[in-house]
This record gives sequence, C-alpha cells and structure tokens, in this order.
Amino acid sequence: MPKVDELLENAEIKKLIEENSRKIVLESIREALDNLRIDIKDGLSGEELTNKIDNINQSIAGLIEAGKEHNLIKVINATGVVIHTNLGRSPLPSEVLKGIELVSSGYSNLEYDLEKGERGERYSHLEDIIVKITGAESAMVVNNNAAAVMLILSTLANGKEVITSRGELIEIGGAFRIPDVCLQSGAHLVEVGTTNKTHLRDYENAINEETAAILKVHTSNYRILGFTESIDSDELSSLKNAHDIYVIEDLGSGVLIDLSKYGIEYEPTVQDSIRKGVDIVSFSGDKLLGGPQAGIIIGRRDIIEALKKNPLTRALRVDKFTISALEATLRLYLDEEIAIKKIPTLRMLTYTNKELYDRANILKNKLEKTGSNLKFDVIEVESEVGGGSLPLEKLPSYAVSIDSEVISTEYIEKRLRKNRVPIIVRIIKDKVILDIRTIDDGELDIIAKAISELES
Ligand SMILES: *Cc1c(COP(=O)(O)O)cnc(C)c1O
Repeated sequence: MPKVDELLENAEIKKLIEENSRKIVLESIREALDNLRIDIKDGLSGEELTNKIDNINQSIAGLIEAGKEHNLIKVINATGVVIHTNLGRSPLPSEVLKGIELVSSGYSNLEYDLEKGERGERYSHLEDIIVKITGAESAMVVNNNAAAVMLILSTLANGKEVITSRGELIEIGGAFRIPDVCLQSGAHLVEVGTTNKTHLRDYENAINEETAAILKVHTSNYRILGFTESIDSDELSSLKNAHDIYVIEDLGSGVLIDLSKYGIEYEPTVQDSIRKGVDIVSFSGDKLLGGPQAGIIIGRRDIIEALKKNPLTRALRVDKFTISALEATLRLYLDEEIAIKKIPTLRMLTYTNKELYDRANILKNKLEKTGSNLKFDVIEVESEVGGGSLPLEKLPSYAVSIDSEVISTEYIEKRLRKNRVPIIVRIIKDKVILDIRTIDDGELDIIAKAISELES
C-alpha cells in the first residue's frame, strides 16, 4: 500500500499540488487509498491490485478533476420539446451574455440614477422598453409569473373577493394552483360558471361590495373542447363601467409576436390584453418570450405603483442578471424579424420543414462518418412547444433515429445521458430519436463524438 508521505514527494503529485492546492490533493490521495482498501476487501486479484497501485497518480488526478465538476451543467436537448421545463426552459440569445458578464463581474447602476447622481430604482431599466413593446402604461418585473400573480392578488384583493371562471382554475407544473395562490395572497376566490361554460352574467351576478377583481387565467396547458363558452377580456373590461372592480389577467406565456403568422396556433398576445382594457396583466419571461426566468407585470400606472409598495415585492425582487438578460432579450423585440432570428425559442419554433430536413441530414452524415456500426435514419417526428404552452400543437419535425442489432435502446439512451455533455433523447417505438429542432448547430460534433465512443 503506498504511503501518503511518499506520494507527496512524488514529482507528478507535486505538480498536482502546484496546479491545485495541497489540501485538495491530500483529500484525493486519501480517497484513492480508501478505494484501494475497498478493492482489497472485495478480493481484487494480486495482478489487478499491482496495476491499480502503479496507476495511483492517475486515479488521484482523476478524483481531483471529478471534484471540480459542477452539479448544474450544460445538456443537449434532443427531445424536440422546445420550452423544456426540466431542461431550463428557454435558452438565452447570445446577445444577452455580454451584458450579464459586464454587470456582474463589476459594479453596475442597478439602483443608481446616473442622471441625478442619487438612488434609483432597479425596475427603471426595464420599464421603458416593456411599455414601448406592449403599449401598457407602466411595468415592473418579479422573479417569475407565479410570484407576479401572488403579488397582484395580495395588493389588490387581500381580504376581498376575486371572481374566476371554473373553466380557468388551472394547475401549472410545480404545484402552482389558482385556488392555492388566491388563498396564500389573502384573496377569497369566488368560482363562477361551470367547467365548460361561463357566461358574462355569471361574473356580473357574483359582483358585490366585497368584490375587488375579476381574474382571467389563460388556460395555457390544457384546452376545453366541444360545447364551451368563455368570456374574453374585452367583455370582462366592459363590466368596469358599472362596477368598481379591477380586471386582472394571468397570461402565462408572454407572447409578444403573433405566432400564427409562422404557422403556429394563435396564442393571445400581451398587446391584445392591454388593448382590450385589462388593468393589470402578468406573464413569464422564460416561456414563449424566450428570455430569462421572470414574471413581467404590465398595466395601469397607479396599480404598478401600489405593487411596488407591497412589502412582498422586496421578497420577490429580481437580481441584476435577470434585469440585464431581460433587457437584452426585449431589445431584440424592437424588430420582429431580428427577434425571430436571434431568440433561440422563437427560432426553434419557426424553422421551415426544409431547414429541419437539411439539418437532420447533416447530423445523420456526421454520425455515419464516425464509422459507428449503429444504423442512422432521418425520420419524420412531431416536436412540442412545451413549457405548458400550446398543449395541442404538434410541430412536424425531422429527427435522426438510432438503431442497433447488438446494443439495446436503453443502453444507448443511458450512455448518451451519461455523456460528459449529457444528451437527452426520446425513445419512440424502441428507437432512440434525436429531434433536430432543439439541437443547436454547435452541438452536432459533441453528439458525433458521443456516438463514436458508444461502442467502446
Ligand atoms: C406558467 C404559468 C404560470 C407560472 O409561471 P412561472 O413563470 O413558471 O412562475 C402561471 N400561470 C399560467 C397561466 C402559466 O401558464
């Protein structure tokens, strides 16, 4: 058994100490020796043991490297689910990274007014651009849309009644449920209508002195089909003529561009809600908007001012990374063409069939060039929008399927998942499928390398 002191005198180990630190190397030496003791206990043969002892320096170096690996790492999304909540929802446009680096590696004017030379407001960096894009009077941003809805209800309806249609009592992944959010915010939920039909008179009949607001919730992750009726925001807004109430809308995904132009099912846009007279609207930053995790709140200035004064706001506030990333993402929206091209979520959703077909063939050729014995085919598949958006929409796409006579599909899936850059795939009809829609061009070589190593 090698001794710790002897190892520390070894030239290779000395080099490791120089490159890392004595403490880290010492810990790895102890771990490597512990592993040897376990091997001996497990009855490793003399020859194998000698081999391990001869290579102990490499084991120690390996342990040091393993200790440096982060838990949160990049993965490749080959599932074709564009807004994949488990895989971090929307990838950010490359344009935002520079700003994040600049404001976080040094100081920034996060809460400093450079014109006046005095304390400023963190929300000020975003308000103008959100107002410009959405047509709203005012805006602010919190951590996510769940926080936004909670803050709005807590500010406008604490201790009072909020009316919502029974068709819109939504649950979002991660246990965001409208009735629970109402309860937490101190608002009393008044359900009206039925699951499939809610009429304007249902809302109107429920209004009384205790009513603070009507809450309209976009049923982003499900659809009620058939004999249905729901009331649009403009009709709900008309109730404000006769009653002193607010109309609130939780839009879910923040769609700023009418995506039906690009062949995707119509999702109500943020601008529509404002035009229809909704007082206060909230939506996510990292769903169809394609930016960082955030809850964006827009609407009447007096309401936004009241929200800012709510003590909850301090607990829900966004940090400088988010503000920088969201500002940079929103700037891309000043020109729709640029937004579609440069925001990865939008680009992935609007690829033409030909682009997808050509890109799938490029991947297939790369995989075949590795000399692998696996069989690769370009096949037609259906991608999904994901992120609890457009649940019925299936986007025709192309994928490379991987087939083998000798290696099982489960084994291929697992090896790709355990790759240095994990590759997350789908299995369809007992074949591993790489949907090209969510794979970036820069990731093709990583996939080819993983495939070339698969049979070893
Ligand atoms: C996604 C969603 C939420 C939650 O938004 P997060 O940004 O994930 O907190 C709330 N309401 C609706 C309708 C949604 O679709």
